Amino acid sequence: MTNTATDGSTSDNHQNCGGRPYPAIWAARPELRGRPYVPLCVAFVELNCPQSTSSSRCLHSRRLSVLAIVAVSCNEFMAPPHHTIAVIGGGIQGSCIALEAAHRGAVVHLFEAGPVLMGGASLYSEGKIHLGYVYAKDMTLETADLQARGAAVFAPLMWRWLGDSFDAGAVSVPFNYAVHTKSALNGDKLGERYGVMAGLIRTHTDNGSYFGVEDAGEVHRWTRDDINAIYGSDVQAVFSTREIAVDPAHVARLLIDAVEAHPLITTHVSAEVHAVEPTTRALVLGGGEYRGGFDHIVNCAWAGRLDIDNSMGLLPTQPWSYRMKYFVKLTDAVRERRTPSTTIVLGGFGDIVDYNNGDGFISWYPTGQRGFSGDIIPPPWPVAPADETAQDILEGTREGLRPIYPDIDALLENYTTHQVRGGVIYAVGSTDIDDPESQLHVRSLSGPQSHGWYHTVDTGKYTTAPLFAVETVDRMLGPSS
Ligand SMILES: Cc1cc2nc3c(=O)[nH]c(=O)nc-3n(C[C@H](O)[C@H](O)[C@H](O)COP(=O)(O)OP(=O)(O)OC[C@H]3O[C@@H](n4cnc5c(N)ncnc54)[C@H](O)[C@@H]3O)c2cc1C
Repeated sequence: MTNTATDGSTSDNHQNCGGRPYPAIWAARPELRGRPYVPLCVAFVELNCPQSTSSSRCLHSRRLSVLAIVAVSCNEFMAPPHHTIAVIGGGIQGSCIALEAAHRGAVVHLFEAGPVLMGGASLYSEGKIHLGYVYAKDMTLETADLQARGAAVFAPLMWRWLGDSFDAGAVSVPFNYAVHTKSALNGDKLGERYGVMAGLIRTHTDNGSYFGVEDAGEVHRWTRDDINAIYGSDVQAVFSTREIAVDPAHVARLLIDAVEAHPLITTHVSAEVHAVEPTTRALVLGGGEYRGGFDHIVNCAWAGRLDIDNSMGLLPTQPWSYRMKYFVKLTDAVRERRTPSTTIVLGGFGDIVDYNNGDGFISWYPTGQRGFSGDIIPPPWPVAPADETAQDILEGTREGLRPIYPDIDALLENYTTHQVRGGVIYAVGSTDIDDPESQLHVRSLSGPQSHGWYHTVDTGKYTTAPLFAVETVDRMLGPSS
């Protein structure tokens, strides 16, 4: 049985769920600090929840302990009966909102334009769970703060929705930040900024909430000799961090399984939403089909989001942009060979990721960035470019990374397949990232916006999707405490 604690610790005997405490959500939701913490597991809920009848079962998962931090009792945690929510877009944002709403007892209809869930930007992401370091240019620290808050609750919420298998075999080698000789801020300046960010990260990620890492804010500057042993002449400084990426393909499989297995979620694939009809709270689908009568509608369509918002007369007040970013996905490593995951800062450079499971990722922004648009609907950029373009991107990425990571040929040779793929990135800001004044260096404006029963969510980053899922569901069903 479970013991209640007010300090975030648990003295329960959860043999099944492990009952891990995650008071990091207190960092994301400071107003909830000190509220009773009631870790529950499936067995406990099914036996004890007063709503756990055959007609209305309590569907709290064994990872309820995460949000149970904000729940005082099972009754308060359930959505009002028959609350029906339409979610548009089955990427990480829509899937997390569907899971969170269904876990709280709402009936969810998830509409996805493509033939499968998780086939958009969320699959073609690098999967870095940002602690904020790439946003050192935002002097207000608001972007870093948002990323650290999102990072702190990412794993706890995924553990709750997806179970323990979530991070098994899918967490990368930690990232080094390699400061390019043409960086917008030099190594000393970045060292100062990272020192400040480390404190910020520590305030949000206590108790191992960032993938079990004890001190997620740890940053360490390398000596010149250490740099020369691994990195090339274009690198002026290196900082090791505790930041990691998850393998987006692994997470996509788990999210699809969880969404499809949930009895309160109905998935509609190949169901493109053309518009929202406000008078009947209906979705207008292909062939003039209407699906109506929803209590809430949530737009998580990412590249398709503004078009649907526009049907409601809602568009961002600031200019926005879509960018098509290609990268090289590396799969099937031939032998064990650990590569330091590396982000090259600060500006439009690139990344190297070793997912620690035989797969990897490399990107070089100057060659991988192949499309830019400020329209309401971005052009239909292909996820897999034509062979000639793909070869050009692969070679451009190899040559771009060589002065930073001279061992690039050996790295590529160690993987059996090199696939060039790409995804759309939406952001507020109308000039590209190589402009030091670009608004793309500031990403604190993302998140849900609500207009009564209509909610539109700018996911911003993969990192912040679980945090925004809880925030969006709180808006629809009321705060979970
Ligand atoms: C190359 C690349 C690397 C990235 N790296 C990182 C990273 O390391 N860390 C990080 O935090 N973020 C990263 N991002 C950003 C991150 O991937 C996105 O912020 C995130 O995946 C967006 O999730 P989403 O669910 O909103 O969008 P998506 O995953 O695109 O999901 C939206 C879904 O909506 C569907 N849809 C669209 N229109 C309609 C419609 N009209 N009707 C019904 N369905 C519709 C689409 O088919 C799609 O499945 C990266 C992005 C790219 C492209």
